[in-house]
Amino acid sequence: MFHRILIANRGEIALRILRACRELDIDTVAVYSQADADAAYLALADEKICIGPPPSSQSYLSMPAIIAAAEVADVDAIHPGYGFLSENADFAQTCREHGIEFIGPAAETIRQLGDKATAREIAIAAKVPTVPGSDGIVEDDQQAIEIAEKIGYPVLIKATAGGGGRGMRVANNKISLVSAYHQARSEAEQAFGEAGVYMEKYLERPRHVEIQILADGHGNVIHLGERECSVQRRHQKLVEEGPSAALNESMRRAMGRTAVKLAKACKFKGAGTVEFLLVGKEFYFIEVNCRIQVEHPVTELISRVDLVKEQIRVAAGEKLSLDQRRVRLQGHAIEVRVNAEDPEYGFRPCPGTITKLIAPGGPGVRFDTHIYAGYRVPPTYDSLLAKLIVHAPTRAEAIVRMRRALDEFVIEGVQTTLPTLRDIMRNAFFERGEYDTGFLEDMLG
Ligand code: ADP
Repeated sequence: MFHRILIANRGEIALRILRACRELDIDTVAVYSQADADAAYLALADEKICIGPPPSSQSYLSMPAIIAAAEVADVDAIHPGYGFLSENADFAQTCREHGIEFIGPAAETIRQLGDKATAREIAIAAKVPTVPGSDGIVEDDQQAIEIAEKIGYPVLIKATAGGGGRGMRVANNKISLVSAYHQARSEAEQAFGEAGVYMEKYLERPRHVEIQILADGHGNVIHLGERECSVQRRHQKLVEEGPSAALNESMRRAMGRTAVKLAKACKFKGAGTVEFLLVGKEFYFIEVNCRIQVEHPVTELISRVDLVKEQIRVAAGEKLSLDQRRVRLQGHAIEVRVNAEDPEYGFRPCPGTITKLIAPGGPGVRFDTHIYAGYRVPPTYDSLLAKLIVHAPTRAEAIVRMRRALDEFVIEGVQTTLPTLRDIMRNAFFERGEYDTGFLEDMLG
């Protein structure tokens, strides 16, 4: 097992990883940018190293700064969390070249899956159902038109290097397709430094359902059920739950088996997520995420498996601590993301100082956050302040519990998404489990 791990991230996920390391008796090295110098969790790390000045967000993205910190602190491994360098194949490879274990899949796997058009090709080769679309990168607008005529409009142009809901464009006809194609390419080039795009049929109001997988380096791959993440704003998740109200037992088994088949096809190692879109009873693969996800606590609560500890153990060469037969999913979990954003003003980010904080608690409530009263939310980073997760025997009880927890929750000083989350938990369609990726837009009007 590792003796010392560097945590190459910030905020709630840095604290989450720190907690796992402390319980595993592993020393931690926290890196931080000057914008995060007053983060309280830094005091829990065995060592802390500053990797950059504000206001730039480069620090957590700077491979040389992080590798230098890892060498100075003499760590065995680096945990990248999510975002930043977590799905950067070059970083995984650089770690390997420096004799440091990257906690995640091999660089080759990240490279293949991080390129979404390639991931699609791997899925097709493994006979995993994909959304009808292009065979890979679409080379020019003429090819785009040919494909669209074959699969039918509307179509979606997606950046092969895309992520975080960015780099997608819908086209309803030939004329809009040509401009969407060129706009998507230049947007992708700007945002990701890679202009390649591919195409999918634009599904009308699908549901987003994803499978959590865990794999070790000994050929064992298991899945831990699904999370439904259809409550989205601009393709970004706000609420996640498990199990999904849209799956029956046989669909659940089929989706789980499909995810494992795909993970095996790309020699996956570590914790990952296979994402699908669901239309009626049919599901279609969209992408694999090669990292721990924001919504991982949903799975942790229903499976009682600590995903971050498993991730660390398998990176250290150990076998998974359980096999598929021992996976028992119990009850229902819901997670909401509390962001420093103002719902009244188009969810614009709201940095500032938190003047008052009353955290929810009580039976079945988990609260993952790095914030506290007096904490300054820097303008530099993602606006996620906290994740509130509840667990209860049934979905109906979980919703009631979440309403209760949200009512206890007080944050003053910055605007947050709490009012929207409270509305979602009281929405009749959400309550009945009758929602899809168009739900939130309808609710917000
Ligand atoms: P990203 O990597 O940017 O998160 P994804 O491919 O995971 O992109 O898609 C994010 C969301 O975009 C999905 O959850 C879904 O809401 C929407 N989406 C993606 N592909 C399609 C599609 N073919 N049809 C309709 N909606 C889609």
